[in-house]
Amino acid sequence: MKYQMSYSRFEAFDACRFRFKLSVIDKIKQKPSFIMQKGIDLHQKLEYAIKGGVASLPDEFKMILPAIEVAIEQEAEAEVDLSITKRFEPTTFNDWNGVWIRGRADVIYGVGKSLVIVDYKSGNYYDKHIDQMAMMAMLAFCHYDTNRIDTQVWSGKVGVVSTGSYTRRKDFIKLKNKWLAKYNEVARAKKFDKNPQACKYCPYHVSNDGPCKGGEDDG
Ligand code: SF4
Repeated sequence: MKYQMSYSRFEAFDACRFRFKLSVIDKIKQKPSFIMQKGIDLHQKLEYAIKGGVASLPDEFKMILPAIEVAIEQEAEAEVDLSITKRFEPTTFNDWNGVWIRGRADVIYGVGKSLVIVDYKSGNYYDKHIDQMAMMAMLAFCHYDTNRIDTQVWSGKVGVVSTGSYTRRKDFIKLKNKWLAKYNEVARAKKFDKNPQACKYCPYHVSNDGPCKGGEDDG
């Protein structure tokens, strides 16, 4: 197996192949940008809320509070590991040799024949999140004996957005094929060019104490 992937790694590959190279191939760790760190802190607050009640949630969660309460009523789990092997078998995040795609659901509830998977965004919702949630559905079908998965994004800016409904019978094979093809595209890549259009908020940019100036001529 050439790479161990995650949605953020697929996203980095699509945004800027040089960023993918710095992160995944060169394994250069970079501190999160200010925006990323804020998102990490808010994710922790959501996790505490799902596990222990909503009393201490800050204003950023006002728009999604009713959805959080529904999830808690249905005994939701937070930060659920959905990592899989290349045989589409469930594994764990720290299966250093076997994991093929790592995934972590912010919230899952309704476990059984139908479940809801949630990704929390402290910022806006964008159409690209549909793709992310489709991948999460594929990972969850590998972990749960469920027939149907509904996916949602909980955005601190726009509220709850339903991003898709998937059934095992109609969608699972299509999802598997799609992410296998995407993986093969990444694994076959030979060139890792910069994309200066993607530098805003990039953790590898010099403005974030990173090694890349973002231009075409700085190596
Ligand atoms: S700073 Fe720009 S060019 Fe450099 S890795 Fe980040 S996105 Fe790519």
